[in-house]
Amino acid sequence: MSEETKILLEESEIPPAWYNIQADLPNPLSPPLNPATKQPAGPGDLAAIFPMDLIAQEMSTQRWIDIPGEVLDIYRLWRPTPLFRAKRLEKALQTPAAIYYKYEGVSPAGSHKPNTAVAQAYYNKKAGINKLTTETGAGQWGSALSLACRFFDMECTVYMVRVSYEQKPYRRSFMEVYGARVVPSPSPETATGRKVLAEHPDSPGSLGIAISEAVEVAAQRPDTNYSLGSVLNHVLLHQSVIGLEAKAQMAKAGVYPDVVIGCHGGGSNFGGIAFPFLQDKFNGKKLRALAVEPLACPSLTKGKYLYDFGDEAGFTPLMQMYTLGHNFMPPGIHAGGLRYHGASPLVSKLLDDGLIEAQAYRQTEVFRSAVLFAQSEGILPAPESAHAIHGAIVEALAAKEAGEKKVILFNLSGHGYFDLTAYDAYLGNRLDDVEYPSEALEASLKSVPSVG
Ligand SMILES: *Cc1c(COP(=O)(O)O)cnc(C)c1O
Repeated sequence: MSEETKILLEESEIPPAWYNIQADLPNPLSPPLNPATKQPAGPGDLAAIFPMDLIAQEMSTQRWIDIPGEVLDIYRLWRPTPLFRAKRLEKALQTPAAIYYKYEGVSPAGSHKPNTAVAQAYYNKKAGINKLTTETGAGQWGSALSLACRFFDMECTVYMVRVSYEQKPYRRSFMEVYGARVVPSPSPETATGRKVLAEHPDSPGSLGIAISEAVEVAAQRPDTNYSLGSVLNHVLLHQSVIGLEAKAQMAKAGVYPDVVIGCHGGGSNFGGIAFPFLQDKFNGKKLRALAVEPLACPSLTKGKYLYDFGDEAGFTPLMQMYTLGHNFMPPGIHAGGLRYHGASPLVSKLLDDGLIEAQAYRQTEVFRSAVLFAQSEGILPAPESAHAIHGAIVEALAAKEAGEKKVILFNLSGHGYFDLTAYDAYLGNRLDDVEYPSEALEASLKSVPSVG
């Protein structure tokens, strides 16, 4: 085992191809369904909002998909990202476990999201599209797509969940620096937004509503497509660069993880780090993969595995996934990027098949772990990523209890330098532990459409 603190790769070691877990799934995914007919959706059903290359990736079962040179050229601005051994955190916890983390916060937008934003902008541009619409919760995805659109000289409109728009004014400025137009959602610009505002004039918004607004606009305009930052198969495909690099780095350090951990909003950073390791698990290797989510929006641990819409208004295809119901309104917790009612179909399938695990935690315990991490390792984590840190700390303390030299790997999906309002609330004892909203959940699960 190497004693290095940072395990680095050369630029020439950026993976040349993405790993597509669909090639190796023990049980294939159920197809997405057309929202109107409830029949399996074909490429044509998606063509109004996505370019054909991405639709092909969405449905592909080819194991390796080459990363285009133009995308690799941009990846080289921050990839390969570093892998750290969290020696100081291990010491603070007095654990015999070895804790490693992959740090995606070194990207220009501060999270893992540019890994797919750049790829999506590239394929849209190649298809002759000049404008993209999207939603953003915490602002991380909007920043990533704004950056990618700038690099490919495209226009970008971002519907930003209102609660985040108000909590994070500097995120908006950041997106505007890259040239994006940022609109608080629900907005009066779309039929969806107007409908929500008529019923709830001070709606805090949700990712589900913001997605509907962005899809509505893209579906109506031929020069405009929609781009989603998580959930879909092609997004998780692009994020596999994280796990592929991490595998090479762990090998360089002479270790293999017993457990791989990611926080879970829609599943992209978790899938990104875990899927390349799961390929080994399918081939017989012993490994646990653990997704960590907030108890206030617990799609994997309290949701149901059903066909549901990806958005509030029901414009997107129906996907079989763990869902809290597409009109579930998550409480305004500070990990805005984890406030999504659904989960990636790939992550959902693996959970349903018992190949991965999920846990949910309260935001105050998560922030306590985030502060311990910052005080030991120095990096201020995004509140979303702090869920993975908390999961890793729980594992490390269990290893201490059992006297086990476990190897833990987690994904630090982004930094928290735009999230100081949240840290301020935590440090000032003003952070609530929103109770698990069981009544709202019961009601929203009733909105899930029945599929034959
Ligand atoms: C968006 C975001 C997440 C949640 O999205 P996933 O698709 O589940 O990864 C987690 N961490 C950070 C830093 C994010 O920006």
